[in-house]
Amino acid sequence: MPSPTFVACLECDLLHRHTPLPHGGEARCTRCGARLYRCAPPDANERALAFALTACVLFVIANVYPIVGLEVQGMHNSATLIGAVESLWDDGARMVAALVFVTTILVPAVELIGLTWVLVALRQGARGRGAVPILHFIESVKPWGMVEVFLLGVLVSLVKLAHIATVEPGVALFSFGALMAFIAAAASAFDPDAAWTQLDATP
Ligand SMILES: [Zn+2]
Repeated sequence: MPSPTFVACLECDLLHRHTPLPHGGEARCTRCGARLYRCAPPDANERALAFALTACVLFVIANVYPIVGLEVQGMHNSATLIGAVESLWDDGARMVAALVFVTTILVPAVELIGLTWVLVALRQGARGRGAVPILHFIESVKPWGMVEVFLLGVLVSLVKLAHIATVEPGVALFSFGALMAFIAAAASAFDPDAAWTQLDATP
């Protein structure tokens, strides 16, 4: 008879016996109500891979094309995200530049590339080089990915700038909006239990 497996609540550390769930079901902590685990559809990680690949393409577009174009008294200017980071750095706001770079470029890139790498390897039935540390790393840096906060800040700035300049939303602005949705979709579809189970079973 197999020994029972236990699941610790990530919020309050209470141990629960792992029991099978129906598809779409989820188990919650009996003490604090936090989600313990869920029974995702069998193709959950295939869908997560599709969302992650789409997000990778959107991420490239969002960083290559201008976010916004401004026209003031006949002068036209446009800026990409990395261009804005460079301007902040050159203007002496180095801490802000570093924060923008880390939260809107570095962490989302690491999260997307890492997740895609692991999911492609799992889809091919392979373990994938460094899959375990990559999954741990993704979990630890995830709170520092703030594309949605950045997007909200850009929208507020555009509304304020519209009083003094002609504002033209760039391709990257729409890409960031779609990127935010696809990162959330990939994270929501991703089934970590299935990934860890497959990693444990793969030599
Ligand atoms: Zn709990």
